[in-house]
Order: sequence, then structure tokens, then C-alpha cells
Amino acid sequence: MPRDRFGREINYLRISLIDHCNLRCVYCMPLAGAPIAPSANLLTPSEIEVVARAALAVGFRRIRLTGGEPTLRADLLEIVERLARLPRLEDLALTTNGLLLPRLAPALVAAGLRRVNVHLDSLDPERLARVMRFGSFADIWAGILAAEAAGLTPIKLNAVVVRGYNEEDVVGLAALTRTRDWHVRFIELMPLGVGEPADLSRRGFVPTAETRARIEAALGPMATLPILDPADEARNYRLADGRGTVGFISPVSEPYCSTCNRMRLTADGKFHLCLLNDDECDVRAALRRGGIEAVANVLLTAVQAKPVGHALHTGRTIERREMFQLGG
Ligand code: SAM
Repeated sequence: MPRDRFGREINYLRISLIDHCNLRCVYCMPLAGAPIAPSANLLTPSEIEVVARAALAVGFRRIRLTGGEPTLRADLLEIVERLARLPRLEDLALTTNGLLLPRLAPALVAAGLRRVNVHLDSLDPERLARVMRFGSFADIWAGILAAEAAGLTPIKLNAVVVRGYNEEDVVGLAALTRTRDWHVRFIELMPLGVGEPADLSRRGFVPTAETRARIEAALGPMATLPILDPADEARNYRLADGRGTVGFISPVSEPYCSTCNRMRLTADGKFHLCLLNDDECDVRAALRRGGIEAVANVLLTAVQAKPVGHALHTGRTIERREMFQLGG
């Protein structure tokens, strides 16, 4: 397994399949959409497979497909099929807004996908429409149930908490874990400079401590669950009468860079060294130059160049458009 300069074992590759999204979450994408890589620049399924093989050859073991909205890729099933059959891959997951899962979930399972994370910011249809803007609660909910029925478990739900939009809704979302063995995770809003209005990421920030206190005030104290995987970005808890888990992902108030095990591949074939960092290594050129071995070398170079952290807790903001991927 490759280790970076800071001794971190890097074994988790997040692959962005496409920059397009069929939602316009206020903190993520302007209504008009964001600058996107032209489709002709997207890595093809066979190129993605070569990158995955190279990653596995140097010791990566986990892959997550994300975006943009990965289910918008017409060749998603082929991509999943190609990756699912690779030896040594221990975990293949997908992060999605769930809208297309009613149609896709059984086929994704047949193609070899094991689990999904679904993004859901509220259980209230009107507030959901205000924060996620396109799509509807009913459609996302149908997607979650379709994923569960198809066996894409454990179901993990991701909610970004935004003041003035859904900070009260965390209680209802956490309460889902009373009756279902789902993982409901609350993500701190990150200052990416792409939200609308422009200062939303600062004004809308809600620290995990506040979200947790709100949940415990309404639903009672939660028990801390042991950290089974040190690289898990969520700190997990259980309600006294809970079946599932309530997790908190706190990139701003409690950065977890020291245990970060991730590297990401953009839809147009660049390794980004940190989910929140602009540094990049060109994979497309390596693919054309020499296939698996050349890509493996770029990947090892990228691992060595991985920065120590993103420094968001110091007030740093990311102004460049970043199709980062959280919620793994
Ligand atoms: N379309 C998929 C989805 O909605 O989950 C995958 C891509 S989306 C960029 C991945 C995750 O990033 C989602 O859970 C989303 O809510 C989260 N996200 C987007 N912008 C964010 C921000 N400014 N701060 C924190 N999380 C953010």
C-alpha cells in the first residue's frame, strides 16, 4: 500500500465520472450550472479500468464513483462491470443524489456495485426543494428505497447542514436511524466559494458540535461508537433506541487530514492530491504514453506530493471550482 511523505497509507481512490449534475444544491452549483469538462475529454470506461488496475497494482484497495452526478453517465453500468471484476478491489461504492436509482439500482447490483451513499439534505419536501433546488424529496426517497430493495447496503445518507436552510432538519434525519439500520451522516458546509449567494459558505456554516447538540436535545444522548476504521471520515454515534448510526463529517471544525487515505481522479483524467486542493497530476497523458505502468508511476508521484492538509479550519477558502467528493 503506498505511503505518502507524512506516513499516511493512501488506498482509496475516488473517481469522478462526470461534472454534470441534475441538481443545483445551493452550496455546490449555481443555477446555471458550473464549468464542466467537455464530454470528449472524459475518460472512457476502458481508460478508467486502466487507471483502476494501476491503482490496485500499487496498493489501492477501495474505489468510489462520484461526480457531478455519476448516474448521468450513459456508460455507468459498463464502468461498474469493468471495475467490479478487478482482483484485489475490496470495496466499490457510488455516491449519488439517488434520483435515477429506481431505474438503475437492480442493474447496478447485477453489474457488481456493492453499496451507495445517497445525498439527502431534508425530509421536508419544501425545504429540500429550497436547498437542493432541482429534483424532489419523493424522487430521492424512492431512490433510497430502491437501493435498499436491490441490496445496495449498508445505505448511507449524506446531509450537508446549512444555516437558514436545513439546520433544524437534522433531527428528523437522525431519527430515521431509530427504525432503519441506515447510516445518516451530517457534513459540515465547506467554504468552496461556489454557493449562491456568494457568502453562503460562511453565513451558512454550522459546526458539528451545534448539530450534535440539536439532535441530542431532541432525541436524547447518543452513545459514541468505536472507531473501526481510522480513515473513516465520520465520527459515529447511536441513539439510545437506535438501529442505525448517526455520523458527523467535520472537515472544518475537526479536520481529519492526518488520517486521510484518499486520492481523487477528475472526470477529465487528473489526479488531485487532496479533495480540497488544486494540485494535480495528468493521468490522460500517462494513459496515452504507456498504459498501466505509466499511470502507476504518476499515481505514486501523486501520493508523494499529497499535501499535509487543506487548512480550511484556518479560514482558508477554495475559490476555484472544485468537483470535490465527500461522503465516502
Ligand atoms: N451528485 C452526488 C451527490 O449529490 O452526492 C455526488 C457528488 S456531490 C459533489 C458529493 C457530496 O458533496 C454530496 O454529499 C454534497 O452534498 C457534498 N457537497 C457539495 N458541496 C459541498 C460543500 N460546499 N460543503 C460540504 N459538502 C458539499
